[in-house]
Amino acid sequence: MEGKIIKGIAGFYYVHAKDGNVYECRARGIFRKDNQKPLVGDNVEITVLDQEKAEGNLVKILPRKNSLIRPAVANVDQAFVIFAMDDPKPNFMLLDRFLIMMEQAGVPAVICFNKKDLAEETEIRKLYDTYTGCGYQVLLSSALKEEGLEEIYKILKGKTTVVAGPSGVGKSSLTNLLQKEVQMETGEISRKLKRGKHTTRHSQVIPAGENTYLMDTPGFSSLYLTDMEEQELKDYFPEFRKYDDQCRFLGCRHIHEPGCRVKEALEAGEISRLRYEDYLGLYEELKEKRRY
Ligand code: GDP
Ligand code: ZN
Repeated sequence: MEGKIIKGIAGFYYVHAKDGNVYECRARGIFRKDNQKPLVGDNVEITVLDQEKAEGNLVKILPRKNSLIRPAVANVDQAFVIFAMDDPKPNFMLLDRFLIMMEQAGVPAVICFNKKDLAEETEIRKLYDTYTGCGYQVLLSSALKEEGLEEIYKILKGKTTVVAGPSGVGKSSLTNLLQKEVQMETGEISRKLKRGKHTTRHSQVIPAGENTYLMDTPGFSSLYLTDMEEQELKDYFPEFRKYDDQCRFLGCRHIHEPGCRVKEALEAGEISRLRYEDYLGLYEELKEKRRY
């Protein structure tokens, strides 16, 4: 029988099968031998061992459309990355790292700035303009005031979306509002019950309507770019692309080269300084990493 891995905990994989049941499965030895690790989001074949107890074995991973390393999920259509306008303040370098990782993986990313109730209109506008100017779709929401939810749902409908972002930005609150099947503990509830929110959460697939899945992933506080040469980095800044073949030098890195169109666009205010500075910072970081 075929199904989809919706959760993986301590060697068990929970497979939502075609018959509508969720089977607790173990991966057989062949996966370990092939060094092929089943991922949340994988479409798989299982054999049912015990129908009563809903237990089975994973026998085969069906071909993947794609897979991400962090978060470790498979068969993703898009990423929905959530940051807060305030509390916590957005860490743009972290957001840019995430966007670069998605560009590298070929997964389209949509940005959501939540907690818009905590920010001034001008501040919101600035962030919105910065990232839409790079070519990203940007949504603004407030889980508290239940604003912006329809726009979000429109983006998610009919797709499998990995939901990511640092903790405390409102991922659980938004996820709870977008579907009713799985209700997650939010920071608010943890505080009322006087306990810390579980930090070792696992990725899970949450059904949110017909052919619509949310992949809830643990929050992140840092991200490191891997498998990338510093020369490649510019390719993952979509706002640089249209200038790329206009620079005087072929393969221009848009740093010190004369006749660089990206730097001209920067001076003209067509490219965000914030983004450009993150580019320089990450370029140096990649260069350093290679040196050691
Ligand atoms: P997560 O860690 O990203 O899943 O964040 P939570 O959903 O647990 O939210 C963290 C805290 O922010 C909780 O206390 C929420 O009540 C609060 N919160 C979530 N969304 C909003 C929002 O839009 N506005 C405001 N003011 N607070 C929010
Ligand atoms: Zn250039």
